[in-house]
Amino acid sequence: MSISYSSEADEQIITSTSMLPEDYCEGSLRPRTLNEYIGQRKAKDNLSIFIEAAKMRKEPLDHVLLHGPPGLGKTTLAGIIANEMGVNMRITSGPTIEKTGDLAALLTNLQENDILFVDEIHRLNRSVEEILYPAMEDYAIDIIIGKGPSANSIRLDLPKFTLIGATTRSGQLTAPLRDRFGVTLRLELYTPDELQLIVERSAQILGIEIEPNGAREIAFRSRGTPRIANRLLRRVRDFAQVCAGGVITQEVADEALTRLEVDKLGLDSLDRRMLRSIIEFYGGGPVGLETLAATINEESITLEDVYEPYLLQQGFLTRTPRGRCITKKAYEHLGIEYLGQQQIEM
Ligand code: ADP
Repeated sequence: MSISYSSEADEQIITSTSMLPEDYCEGSLRPRTLNEYIGQRKAKDNLSIFIEAAKMRKEPLDHVLLHGPPGLGKTTLAGIIANEMGVNMRITSGPTIEKTGDLAALLTNLQENDILFVDEIHRLNRSVEEILYPAMEDYAIDIIIGKGPSANSIRLDLPKFTLIGATTRSGQLTAPLRDRFGVTLRLELYTPDELQLIVERSAQILGIEIEPNGAREIAFRSRGTPRIANRLLRRVRDFAQVCAGGVITQEVADEALTRLEVDKLGLDSLDRRMLRSIIEFYGGGPVGLETLAATINEESITLEDVYEPYLLQQGFLTRTPRGRCITKKAYEHLGIEYLGQQQIEM
């Protein structure tokens, strides 16, 4: 299963999109069918047609690339595809396949029509990736036996299979790998309405009493991400049990999330630090990503993959060729007076 633990500093942050140790119960909350999978209308509509067609032809599904920020349901969707196709799924991730032999062993152990799910596929190393090309295209791998002049290459046939790759950074995939996926689906951040349904569904599974307005409050503060919505739900439940008679109402959710420093729009302390730094040190921008990352002592990849998508979607941040800029809306949200965009020399 795709368990990517975040950096130590990140682990403290409740709105981290990475999987935290407290998310161990995610498995029980995962939808198992396309019908149960909330939102992502476009991806779901396309997938259901591809699945139906593959089933009618009794062939494996074409290779699928899922991309989008962490916690949006890529692993979940891969599991659903396996379930709907009635096949087994093997799960691995780019960084764990170190040698070509590791991948060869995985591929040769697949059964006809099985699914191989590779999380963080952009992190496969180059020699491993090259094994995948003939495997995806011709269902075969070339293995070198022996060394030096007596080395021999033999071709091994594989069962027909489907590769599902998941990535947060599709731009980092090499062109030859990207081109070998027949289906590419981009997952989008969820709307508050969709997240409310997700929170209500999870509450039902976990036996948590929640009012619709309570679910809505959590939905609005979950950064468009189901993983965060489920985590906030569990934290608010603890608060409701200890301080408020066990039922999650809007007031209870609001109070609990305010105590956890998740503001009305789901921004956490790092978001606010990032926005404030752009205002305080760079006059509202533009500022380059690397400079900004160094200023707030975070990794630029974390800012780009985890923090920016939500801030861009909310209209707090814009990306320009010269760097990131803060919008008037962000000033208003932070309660800082907006004096117009200042131009500073970079
Ligand atoms: P990713 O692989 O993109 O990081 P996951 O598939 O692990 O994300 O999803 C994280 C959690 O969010 C899952 O445990 C699941 O419970 C929940 N989830 C994701 N997408 C949905 C959805 N569309 N409907 C309901 N729950 C979802």
